[in-house]
Amino acid sequence: MVSCEPPSTTKLVTMDVESVLHMKEGLGEASYAQNCSLQKRSMDAMKHVIVESAVDAYASEMPESFTFVDLGCSSGSNALPLIGDIIEAIHVMARRSAKPAPEFMVFLNDLPSNDFNSMFLGLPFFTKKFKEGIELHGDMAPSVYFAATPGSFYGRLFSRDSLSFIYSCYSLHWLSQVPPGLVDINGRPINKGKMYISNTSPPAVALAYFEQFQKEFSLFLKSRSEELHLGGRMVVAMLGRTTDDHSDKSARVLWEVLDQSFAIMISQEMIDEEKVDTYNVPFYAPSAREIEDEVHREGSFTIDYIQTYELSISTGDPLKDARITSMAIRAIQESMISHHFGKAIIDTLFHVYGGLLSQLMLKEEIKSSHLLIVLRKTH
Ligand code: SAH
Repeated sequence: MVSCEPPSTTKLVTMDVESVLHMKEGLGEASYAQNCSLQKRSMDAMKHVIVESAVDAYASEMPESFTFVDLGCSSGSNALPLIGDIIEAIHVMARRSAKPAPEFMVFLNDLPSNDFNSMFLGLPFFTKKFKEGIELHGDMAPSVYFAATPGSFYGRLFSRDSLSFIYSCYSLHWLSQVPPGLVDINGRPINKGKMYISNTSPPAVALAYFEQFQKEFSLFLKSRSEELHLGGRMVVAMLGRTTDDHSDKSARVLWEVLDQSFAIMISQEMIDEEKVDTYNVPFYAPSAREIEDEVHREGSFTIDYIQTYELSISTGDPLKDARITSMAIRAIQESMISHHFGKAIIDTLFHVYGGLLSQLMLKEEIKSSHLLIVLRKTH
């Protein structure tokens, strides 16, 4: 008799992303703080749009106190400099319009397991530098107050109507969970050997990811619309796709190198195949059209600007690029991979991954696709 029950090991184990996902903490060699230069490069290309939108949000209401939040701030060195740029630009604008410079309330949000301590350890240095910079121009530095808001941005984080400006850099491609539809009716994984949508994945895989994105992005918009003042701005920078094809190469290429690394470790009997088959990432790279559809459906925001960009990860030094990329992916993925496979495989896995990535980057230029969206709350 054939049993309908799959062996228990093939069952998809749902990961509690909220308590598992975090960028590698601390300031050590493998930490996110030391390995966020890829994100920084992308942020540098988009920073001016974030700063200009913050100034627009300020100009539309000229409040005495300007309250804003960085959603998914992480523990790296990217968050504070951008906050400094936003405050300085608004400060300058207020002075030019002969208005008293506003005070600033800055919230730093991330999941509860984020290393907020490392971030706050950098605060005294940041504040000192920032004040000195403004006072150098003979001006009084504005009062700036910081607070952490641990929690998922897929839900309410702030009281109603309390924010003037919201932005999020490279965080919204993370889903709150791996889509439930990645198993067949018997509970067996349907995306075998792959951890994200690949060009060999069955169509049900892309559909499962897409439906999860729709549900979560719409919850994100609804939550933010309740928190943001009317006329307030929200900017989202994230990984995305430049085409409607769910298995767009730029969205999957780095995941596939990780798939190949796992395949090598399976062939060397270092990992169980079933364990790999049940590992999927809570990640989704949407297209501009998918974002537009959700914004229209939710109804609170008008899109002021939406753009997709392709940025090259390759800088002309393939081996260095591969090392930087491999360390970055490790800092991002280590918490989730350790949770699923155990810590013991991490060093070997990323050794294999680094090698495969070097081979690939010696052969071809690797690009990633990015989305930049500026929203205004109009309803
Ligand atoms: N903005 C930073 C960090 C990007 S890393 C930078 O550009 O360098 C992505 C961050 O998003 C991680 O710290 C992760 O913990 C956070 N994140 C992912 N899902 C989240 C959620 N649902 N709510 C809040 N933060 C989340």
